[in-house]
Amino acid sequence: MPGYDLHTHSLHSDGTTTIEQNVADAVELGLEGLAITDHDTTNGFDEACAAAEGTALEIIPGVEFSAELDASSVHVLGFWIDPANADLQTEMDRLRNERERRAEQIIEKFNALGIPASIDRVREIAGEAPLGRPHIAKAVLETGKVADTQEVFDKYLADGGPAYVPKYAVSPVRAVELLTNAGGVAVVAHPGLFGSRNQDEAGLSADAIEEMVAAGMVGIEAGHPDHTDANTQLYRDLAKAHGLVITAGSDYHGEAKENRLGSATTTRQQVEELRARR
Ligand code: AMP
Ligand code: ZN
Ligand code: FE
Ligand code: FE
Repeated sequence: MPGYDLHTHSLHSDGTTTIEQNVADAVELGLEGLAITDHDTTNGFDEACAAAEGTALEIIPGVEFSAELDASSVHVLGFWIDPANADLQTEMDRLRNERERRAEQIIEKFNALGIPASIDRVREIAGEAPLGRPHIAKAVLETGKVADTQEVFDKYLADGGPAYVPKYAVSPVRAVELLTNAGGVAVVAHPGLFGSRNQDEAGLSADAIEEMVAAGMVGIEAGHPDHTDANTQLYRDLAKAHGLVITAGSDYHGEAKENRLGSATTTRQQVEELRARR
């Protein structure tokens, strides 16, 4: 399988696999490259480079940075960022701390809804990773009150749901600036998933994308397993209209999501275009 998977998670955030496993699987699949894009952390870089040594797999250091707009999540991928950049790390530390506070509030909401999940169990599940909704969904699943984690999201935890709490996060424009100032290139992740899912009107607006482009964003992740064909087409067209690089990635989360590693890939040519925009 040629190409680059530019969107993958590990145990450093809410994936369920180690960086070593991801690298080994990518090599096994014959991928040309793998971007490490855990949520709000750059902790997996050194492990990834070490694991890929002696193989033909190119590791692209990255991050999936959390931003919010109108109380819904906007995720911005940054590639080739400098992990030593102080402004970026300060902001990511703040995000981590806010995630702790938010997880506590979400658990209080579940408890008020009659679901006895505990914050201690969420922390156990998350381990070293910044606390995310998928960890909370697992803890809720363990209470036996729901059939699977997707039901937890659909009934309670999706953006705007009864147990949802928005997280403190920077604006998408600020996220683009932070990633760009850290020596990287910024690409908006899965713009079709913005707002409530399973709705025709969902998706990040052309205006919001234009503001991010004005701030230095260079690409759009039009290819994502959870995008509809219409999403993919819309964001490809928007990318072309703004002269942006079109990317694709699997958003692999191990067992936490159905998305398989390498199920969406970016061509080497597109990766070279991205690299040239640094
Ligand atoms: P957080 O960063 O804590 O807001 O969690 C975001 C993660 O939750 C995303 O990366 C997805 O893995 C998951 N997620 C968010 N919304 C949904 C949804 N409606 N259905 C399934 N998973 C979701
Ligand atoms: Zn995730
Ligand atoms: Fe995301
Ligand atoms: Fe992701």
